[in-house]
Amino acid sequence: MNKNINYIDCKSIAESIKDDVKKDVYKIKTDLNIEPSLAVVVVGNNPASMTYIRGKEKDCNECGIKFKCFSFPESITEDELLFEIDELSIDDSIHGIIVQLPLPKHIDPNNVANRINIYKDVDGFGYTNMANLMHGTNYIPPCTPAGCIEVLDRIGFNLSGANVVVVGRSNIVGKPLAIMLTNRDANVTLCHSKTSHDDLVKYCLNANVIISATGRRDVVLPCMIPNDCIVLDVGINRDENGKLCGDIRNSDVDAMFLSKARYISPVPGGIGLMTRAMLLKNLIETIKTNLLD
Ligand code: NDP
Repeated sequence: MNKNINYIDCKSIAESIKDDVKKDVYKIKTDLNIEPSLAVVVVGNNPASMTYIRGKEKDCNECGIKFKCFSFPESITEDELLFEIDELSIDDSIHGIIVQLPLPKHIDPNNVANRINIYKDVDGFGYTNMANLMHGTNYIPPCTPAGCIEVLDRIGFNLSGANVVVVGRSNIVGKPLAIMLTNRDANVTLCHSKTSHDDLVKYCLNANVIISATGRRDVVLPCMIPNDCIVLDVGINRDENGKLCGDIRNSDVDAMFLSKARYISPVPGGIGLMTRAMLLKNLIETIKTNLLD
């Protein structure tokens, strides 16, 4: 953390979302006699996945949500995994299902995401949800894009007519984020590995908001950040010393450029915390929609 950079306090924002979730959980338990429950499906034992799962378990415990982890060996076939998803999909004691990525190469993550009961798809990656997202109605917002937009809302940024550059077009971050921002009336430029460096510089220098979600350092350079811009760094990488870092460098030299930004989200302690908080919010919203309406 550099003292000349105006970091967004994502930790406080995430805590305040979790406080609201706790109140809702209490209400659901007392009014409906239902214990909100999240199922996490994991295949293999990728160390990063295990860390993310422990984080989700901690969040659930803090908020009074029952956390159930279903762990399968790397050798499970796609059909076998789909069968397990079907079982969870019809289990009334489970209200949300997520599948921890990455999956082994022999399993298509789209087939798995698409098999989750649409009323329990709290990650929002299924085709039905994505189609609804395109239309801007009745959708569960994928957690990382939702976390980015929540941060912008909480710092009081008005998206209407704003120039937003999203770098990275994956199905779980960049693409849904671009659609959600479009639905909020932003002017969105979605960049990717085929965007030329010169174009990326041009788009960034004209941006009110830059969101980097590439998992690559040195794509968005500190010198591309214009005055008063808001920068959300979604990337989770390891630096030369194995330390957790974002996509955008923030050494003391870089801070000269970064200090021109209105706000920057830190890594760690930034969009990652928001993503975790939005998952809990999605679970509660799903229960409210499915069981209270
Ligand atoms: P993917 O690898 O699926 O997508 C990366 C995207 O970046 C692709 O669209 C790719 O373009 C683009 N890209 C790669 N190189 C360049 C380049 N040189 N110039 C411009 N664009 C480029 O990654 P994810 O979307 O899954 O994740 C991105 C990062 O965000 C990772 O670091 C991941 O760990 C992190 N992440 C963080 C989360 C959080 O909670 N904070 C949640 C999810 C992810 P192309 O499509 O052309 O290949």
